Amino acid sequence: MHNRDHTVTTERAIVHVDMDAFYASVEQRDEPAYHGRPVIVGGLGRRGVVAASSYEARRFGVRSAMPMGRARRLCPEAVYLKPRMEHYREVSAGLFAVFREITPLVEGISVDEAWLDVTDSRALFGDVETIGAWLKQTIRERTRLTASIGMASNKFLAKLASDYDKPDGFCRIATNRVRAFLAPLPVERLWGIGPRAAQRVRAKGITTIGELGGADEATLDRLLGNSAPHFRALAHGIDERAVISGRPEKSVSHEQTFDEDLYSLTVMRRKLLSLAEGVGIRLRRKYLRGATVTVKIRTGTWRTYTRSRTLAQPAASTRDIHRNALVLLEQWRGEHPREGVRLLGVGISGLAHIVQSTLFEPENGGVDITLDDIRARFGGDAIVRGSLVKRDKKPR
Ligand SMILES: [Mg+2]
Repeated sequence: MHNRDHTVTTERAIVHVDMDAFYASVEQRDEPAYHGRPVIVGGLGRRGVVAASSYEARRFGVRSAMPMGRARRLCPEAVYLKPRMEHYREVSAGLFAVFREITPLVEGISVDEAWLDVTDSRALFGDVETIGAWLKQTIRERTRLTASIGMASNKFLAKLASDYDKPDGFCRIATNRVRAFLAPLPVERLWGIGPRAAQRVRAKGITTIGELGGADEATLDRLLGNSAPHFRALAHGIDERAVISGRPEKSVSHEQTFDEDLYSLTVMRRKLLSLAEGVGIRLRRKYLRGATVTVKIRTGTWRTYTRSRTLAQPAASTRDIHRNALVLLEQWRGEHPREGVRLLGVGISGLAHIVQSTLFEPENGGVDITLDDIRARFGGDAIVRGSLVKRDKKPR
């Protein structure tokens, strides 16, 4: 008898679930009068941005992260709504409960999006398409919402698949179809490629993933630096990242109570910057960024105010967090010019993971990560931001 080596590397089965126009769909579900109408959810103030738009609104060119004023010009007849985050989070909890009926390996990307590693679930529930179909149907039955389902052997491909025939999509990229699927896609679809990197690649005439995969190594190294091997692997459909279970944290915040109430806006601004710095460092350490900045203000008379604003783009940089917190504080101060302030807090919510390779894009706090790193090595006082330095002498 022969002793055969029966080691077989099992291909992983990854499902990516992405709800369609999530906030807007929840609003349409809850209010029959909105059904079939363009619905736009987001900040309704002068500087608001679109958080979600229904497919009816997308036909007019409305997209998320677009300034609200632009959306109103494109689609004046739409229903405009403020987000009800608390409510969406409840719906989200129901979705994640469905995911966990299939596997404990669920990695949430945002409230309405997750990867599921169902490799070992197949023995119980059937092949990956059976599982995908069950997820789609169960989500529809329990939430009356539609999900797009992508299935493939890794996270990158599964996410591309769920996006492929959205909304209400159902797409599996079989291993023998990977090359054909990827080849015609624009390079921007490579997970984590920033706009500037994409531009550099395009300037060399490489416009599709297929072309990038076929480009010679030296060229890619020159264009993409340290990230070249990562993007080359993705271009060949290779992505070894594991599905890491555990939902991202909901929010990160720092607050400080003062010994004496503050009256000077200048002093409050400075406190706000150091709080924003604390929040930013914690975010970046966990590779998170957040969508909504909140300021908490408690007065000497124990009245507590919270003010929030949702950003055009999720942020992780101290500068963005501070700038937005400052707008909120100054607004509040305008309305309460004489109140003493006993406590200040800065928080950020709507957290999502940053992809490693885009960490150094400025919107993800690139500069701050370098600062954080130096601080970690040389201690907290090694670098002090310009405006944190107390001026001993006033310029004359
Ligand atoms: Mg979605």
